[in-house]
Amino acid sequence: MEIERLFGRTRREVARQREPAGQTWLRRAGYLRMTAGGTYTWLPLGAITLDKIRRLCVDAVSDVQPLSWRGGDSGAEIANWLCELTRSEIRSYRQLPQRLQWDKAPDVASLAWLEATQEELEASTSTTWDDWHAIWTRLGLEAQEIATVPRVGSRAKAWATPCAQGPDHWLVCSACSYAGEPGTVRPQIASLPEEPPEEMEKVATPGCETIQDVADYLGVPTSHTLKAVFYATAEGHIVFAVIRGDLEVDPEKLARVTGHPLHPATAEELNAAGIVAGYASPIGITPNPLITVVGDPSIQANINFVAGANQAGYHLRGVRYPRDFQVDALEDIVQAEPGDACPVCGAPLEAADGLTLTQLETISLAEATYLDSDGRPQSLHAAVARVDLGRILVAIAEAHHDDYGLILPPIVAPYDAHIVILSPGRPDVAKAADELALRLTANGWLALWDRRDESAGVKFTDADLIGLPWRITISPRSLKRGGIEVKARAEDRRSILTIAQVPEALPTHL
Ligand SMILES: [Zn+2]
Repeated sequence: MEIERLFGRTRREVARQREPAGQTWLRRAGYLRMTAGGTYTWLPLGAITLDKIRRLCVDAVSDVQPLSWRGGDSGAEIANWLCELTRSEIRSYRQLPQRLQWDKAPDVASLAWLEATQEELEASTSTTWDDWHAIWTRLGLEAQEIATVPRVGSRAKAWATPCAQGPDHWLVCSACSYAGEPGTVRPQIASLPEEPPEEMEKVATPGCETIQDVADYLGVPTSHTLKAVFYATAEGHIVFAVIRGDLEVDPEKLARVTGHPLHPATAEELNAAGIVAGYASPIGITPNPLITVVGDPSIQANINFVAGANQAGYHLRGVRYPRDFQVDALEDIVQAEPGDACPVCGAPLEAADGLTLTQLETISLAEATYLDSDGRPQSLHAAVARVDLGRILVAIAEAHHDDYGLILPPIVAPYDAHIVILSPGRPDVAKAADELALRLTANGWLALWDRRDESAGVKFTDADLIGLPWRITISPRSLKRGGIEVKARAEDRRSILTIAQVPEALPTHL
């Protein structure tokens, strides 16, 4: 490919806010362009590289078969689609296992495993999981396993790489290496000394509309109050979350518990359900078909809580769960934050930014069955994975660049060599270039050729930016010294080789 013909130019782009350095270098080197409406376009250099990364990650799954599907990207849509397909196509144990691959977006590869048993599913997905780790090592990426929020099924995990300004965020424990997205982390919560039960008692709390007001007025710590937080579904159904007063509710965890997108309830929605904001508690107002109460396990503490009396200006003391109220679900809805205690070892969690490379989760295809060797119907066991090719490329660029540009690992570089021709009009230079082209083609090398009428400085600057593994220069000076000048992008050393020595004399590129 002639660099002059390449769609996508190197540019002096400046770093954008909240952008990993690797992404800035990809834009400068003409791999990536931010286009209108906040979308980004992978230019030919980027698209070729993504394709190499796709092959590397997808080939780690043996016997994978391609699918092409133009459907939605939500977890539910993927689950329904896979369920429908497997029901129509899989009949017998003889058809298992199946490994399928499809692309949801140009820079995302999706995979599915269908297996006869849970053990087989775990064996095949963990093989791929380990193979992916070997790929990260080969690409020079520091990868860490993190717990992630499932998109489709359950038990999701991801390979992720730390990266300043990365778009993904998680909490990490430096003491024990535990790491998870905040929506998956239930920190250790300090337990409170038990108290002997008291009778429930209504007390006047004039003007106390916040947890802190009530705690101060009654002289108790906020941990001895029950906090009520209200959300609503699109249909106006109220989700009433109850948590210990010193903790916060994570709206995303709450939405997962209820299975519906939620918004903070409006005053009208609360009024319609008969809830007095500021003085609300589940006591006496449930069961109510308009309200779902979700309690956090922190309300199970054996202490006498202060809770709203569902009457303006009053609260209740001596409230115990489950003696005085019930909940529809008792699930983890606590917001996890930096500084919280690690779920595994109790050390403080820290915030980390990075890039999620691949994500794997098991998925229930409950209605999909196959007939086993005795002709009995059995449930299929399935997992899906999402390989974020774009983030992987940004991670590679982040790990492999210097002050002049990218230094791509040969295994993913879009071309093997960058050929700089100086004085291309001279017959001896042109002849040498033709010989080199034949030699490279015969050996299966793909090269980017620069025969532009530009200075050597401009051409070398572009070669450094684009970051192909080898730079080969043909100039009157190199010919005078006996051949062509060869330089690895990752090294400063230059050497002169004869054309006949290329590419064997270069260290193996695979
Ligand atoms: Zn820990």
